[in-house]
Formats: sequence, structure tokens, C-alpha cells
Amino acid sequence: MRFYSTNNPQVTVSAKDALFHSMPVDKGLYMPTPLPVLGAAFFDDIAGQSLADIGYAISAALFGDELSKQELEQLTHQAFPFDTPTIDLVPGQSSVLELFHGPSLAFKDVGARYMAALMSHYSQQSEKEVNILVATSGDTGGAVAMGFHNVPGVRVSILYPSGRVSDLQEKQLTTLGGNVQAFEVDGSFDDCQAIVKQAFVDADLNANLSLSSANSINIFRLIPQGFYYVRAYGQTRHYNKPVVFATPSGNFGNLSAGVMVQQMGLPVEHFVASTNLNQVVPAYLKTGMYAPQPSIATISNAMDVGAPSNFPRLAHLYGDDYDTIARNVSGYFYDDEQTRLGMKRIFDTYQYIACPHTAIGIMGGEDYQRSANPDSLVISLATAHPSKFKPLVEEVISQTVDVPERLAVLADRVKQSIRIPAQYDAFKESLLQTVA
Ligand SMILES: *Cc1c(COP(=O)(O)O)cnc(C)c1O
Repeated sequence: MRFYSTNNPQVTVSAKDALFHSMPVDKGLYMPTPLPVLGAAFFDDIAGQSLADIGYAISAALFGDELSKQELEQLTHQAFPFDTPTIDLVPGQSSVLELFHGPSLAFKDVGARYMAALMSHYSQQSEKEVNILVATSGDTGGAVAMGFHNVPGVRVSILYPSGRVSDLQEKQLTTLGGNVQAFEVDGSFDDCQAIVKQAFVDADLNANLSLSSANSINIFRLIPQGFYYVRAYGQTRHYNKPVVFATPSGNFGNLSAGVMVQQMGLPVEHFVASTNLNQVVPAYLKTGMYAPQPSIATISNAMDVGAPSNFPRLAHLYGDDYDTIARNVSGYFYDDEQTRLGMKRIFDTYQYIACPHTAIGIMGGEDYQRSANPDSLVISLATAHPSKFKPLVEEVISQTVDVPERLAVLADRVKQSIRIPAQYDAFKESLLQTVA
């Protein structure tokens, strides 16, 4: 398996290079080649397989040429000690794929843990410490911090927008210590992302440090996210319905991962891209015009992205052809008031407690189904546990939300972060101090 850049398909690199370099020098995005196509028999036979089993099978098809069976087996089982169950809202019509049963209670655990397992595999072979830089709008930070905590040979620096993440999200990334350092940026998520991008093209910094990214531009966060689409297909196959996935989206890594497994043969009839007011992609799907915007703060803060970093990958997967994209993906978006109403309606109708992101996914899926595809089974991705947004969810549904133990223990821990202005030089200076 090799990886090429979306900007220059002629040049390819190894899996290890794509993993550690994250972004090609031409600023494209890495894509695997050839993308293996798994036959119908594979998908017919997966109902009883766990996330780890599916992860192993797809990983072996992708890079069985670089890693041994035993290594892949160990890696996938180490990464996925939890499941991603599918819960029926209306049997055979509407389901929720729960992706929050990992340590940080958000779907980003899946990508972060697979990447961490792979990096620790490779870093055992090298002497130089790897410095992971990651910008987070909320949930990436926690998943990466927990996934990489205490991984030997790896140091993690997390940038997050001050005041724009929930208290518990902040605790997840600022209380681990050890090899994990949080930078609290006086700015937006886009500012954080811009600083990280600049670090990767700073020749001086790269001469000193071996930098790597765990943002969803890294193809190895995306690949494992395909596994749970397959797992959900396996769990709902007995309904024998055309499957539509509704994905609440920000940077569009999660949706791109679904499209990638669709191209590997997973029978997906359609995707729904559901967003908050940061509706650059729904607007594109409607008009054909792609116009990134400054991000807008909303109650579904992990999706407050005005310039989605994975959009070029999504477009590339469909041959950069608007008609193909629009045939396969429909866009919906909701403001905060609609999101609150949706959370309340979902609770009142199904007794299902959805976080704001998850509610946006469910609403998009149901609106699409109602208007365009009544015979489909819509599987909406539940991207975070509702207790990560406890005050908001409780206010909206007038019910107490239980906090799982692994999150509850963080409440008493003391936040430790380095506060910096939204300027690259300030970040660079304090990063060099922390790693010195
Ligand atoms: C990150 C995140 C999203 C958005 O996922 P993308 O892959 O960036 O589109 C949605 N919901 C939650 C809870 C998230 O943490």
C-alpha cells in the first residue's frame, strides 16, 4: 500500500511516511492507493464481527504488505477494546450508531487510538522523539490526549480555543500531564488550526523537531473511522434496507471515512452531511459553489469549522465532480434553536438522549428520509456522549444526564495549560520551551 497526494497522484510515499508526515509538502492530502475493493462476500458475512475484527480485516487488505498478521491483529485489538453498537430508534427505519464508548466518550477515540497504536509500533524502531501537534475544536484533544498518553517516544501538544470548549472537554485535555501539554489559545478553532498548519511548513522548527499531526487530515485517523460504518452495516443487515448514513460534520473527516469504505465496496446508498450554522458544505451541495467562511460559535462546538480541512478529500473521492458528489451526498444544517428543539423532540419521541452534534445528525437523516427516500434505513452517527455537554442537555430535556465514571473522575482534577495569544510566534516560542 502506497499513499499519494491529492495534489499530485504521480508521487507516492510509504504508510510510515504518510503516518508521520500527515500532510504532503505540496499541501494536498494523502490517499491510499490502490484502494482495495472488498467483495460482496466480505460484507455479507460481517453481522457477528466486532469492531476489532472488522478493523483487522480491512487493515490487512490495506497494508498486509507492510505489517505482519500478528502485528495487525495486536494493533487492532489494542486500539478497539470497545464496541460501536447500533441502537434502533424505529426498527428498520432509523438507527443511531453510538461512537462514544471509548475512553474520551467521542468518536475521535477510534481514529486517535488506531493512530497511537500504529505510531507506537513504528516509534519503537526510531530514536528521535515524535512531537504531535493537534488543534481541537473540542473532542479531538481529549481523544488524542488519552490515546497517546504515556506512549513512549511521543510528545503531544494540543491547541484549543479558550472559552470555546466545555468544562469537561477542557479537563480531558489539560489534566493528564506527562507527555501531554495543552496550549490555551486566545482565538477561534480556525486560529488554532492555522497555527498548527504554519508549524508544519516552518523549516526552522522542523529542523529541530520531528513534527507530526493527529488532526483528521492524517489519513490514519480516517482509515479506522471507516470500520464502524462497516460494523453498523453488519448490525443492521437483517433489515434488508438500502442504507443511508447521516454524519454530523465539521472538518468532514468522519464523512470522508464513510465515503472511502463505500468505495471499498460497502453498499451505502447515500450520505447525509448535517451541520450547524457553519454550513459551507450544505451550501456547496445546493449551489455548486464552495466558499469557506470564518467559523461561527454554536452549541455544537465540535463542528464549528468554517473551512473544513477534509473537504478536498471528500471531493477527490468523488472525482472532484460536483454532480457525482451531489448524487451521493445531501446537505442539511440547523441553527442552535432548531438543534435544541431537535434534542427535545428526539428525547420525547424515542427517549433517546442525544448530544447537540448527534441531534443534528439525526435531524438531517430524518429530514432527508422524509423528503427523499422513505424506504431507506437511516443510520445516524452519535458522535459524543450527551454527558460531555451535561448542562446544556439537562436544560433542554429537563432530565438528569448520568456521567460515566471515566468522565466524572475528571471534575476534581486541576487544569494545567499554557495560555497564548493567537499568534504563531508565541506558540513556537513556548513549544520550544516545553520540549527543551
Ligand atoms: C469532531 C466532531 C464532529 C465533527 O467531525 P468531523 O470529522 O470533523 O466532521 C462531530 N461531532 C463531534 C461530537 C465531534 O467531536
